[in-house]
Amino acid sequence: MRLGFDIGGTFIKLFDGRRVEKVKTPRSVEGIVSIIAKKVQKARAGRVGVAVAGLVDIREGVVTESPNLSFLNGTPLKFLLEKELHVPVLTVNDATAAAYAEYFRGAGRGSSLLVCLTIGTGLGGGAVLKGELLLGTSGAAMEVGHTVVEKDGWPCRCGRRGCLEAYVSSYGLEKLYLSKSGRKLPSHEVIQRALLGEPEAKQAVGKMVEYLSVGVMNLVHIFNPDVVVLAGGIPSNYPEIVDMTERLVREKAFPLTLKELTIKLAELGEFSGAIGAWMLSDNLPDSNSRSD
Ligand code: BGC
Ligand code: ZN
Repeated sequence: MRLGFDIGGTFIKLFDGRRVEKVKTPRSVEGIVSIIAKKVQKARAGRVGVAVAGLVDIREGVVTESPNLSFLNGTPLKFLLEKELHVPVLTVNDATAAAYAEYFRGAGRGSSLLVCLTIGTGLGGGAVLKGELLLGTSGAAMEVGHTVVEKDGWPCRCGRRGCLEAYVSSYGLEKLYLSKSGRKLPSHEVIQRALLGEPEAKQAVGKMVEYLSVGVMNLVHIFNPDVVVLAGGIPSNYPEIVDMTERLVREKAFPLTLKELTIKLAELGEFSGAIGAWMLSDNLPDSNSRSD
């Protein structure tokens, strides 16, 4: 029995191979460890995969930085969990796990080079080439949310300026809406209003999509993927974003990079990170398992 978890800004999601579940994310490391421990004990799981909304050093299993769950910064999560659970734990970035799940079980089935973006509280990225995850040397590859699209632009939660996430995320959309309408509303309401046709909300979404298409075009120029998957709460609540983005990318990118490209909505919904963590927990890479 294996369990996959995804520690997100709002919920911890869980997948046991058949069923999914979600609980509110506690605001402390101890709270998170204790929820995972309870679930693992109850299921008598022998292996655990944990995806986290932040940069994960895959060798050490340390969450080095989490722009949207900053209390996790510097947490040796793998060590803490293995000490508590006495089973092997794999820790991985949430969007990396989501990309893996979408590649094998979702919108990326049959693709050869998939790039996946998760757009929600933060903006994450993952890539899979012929079944292999692109992890980077330390596990920090595809931090797409913190690529700079506006020099000296809006502040980002990572402390830098002009990051793609500062415009393309729930807080980016809220800020874009504020700048268009003078009103402060949570992102899900902005999306509701845009769906109902409110002009300012549609403008804010349009502006977010402009930035997103710049990010996607950059990725398309770097990787030349055959599939780009848009995942996370924002595209799943407003699927038109996918076509809007594709239109802008097609207007601007090199034709050769567009030849075999499709941009798709994710198929696994909000549980893709937990499903990916579950899948990866079966196959702990050596560099990610403890040798002591
Ligand atoms: C973090 C990424 C994470 C993404 C989505 C970003 O702010 O830097 O590591 O994948 O949010 O949770
Ligand atoms: Zn940033």
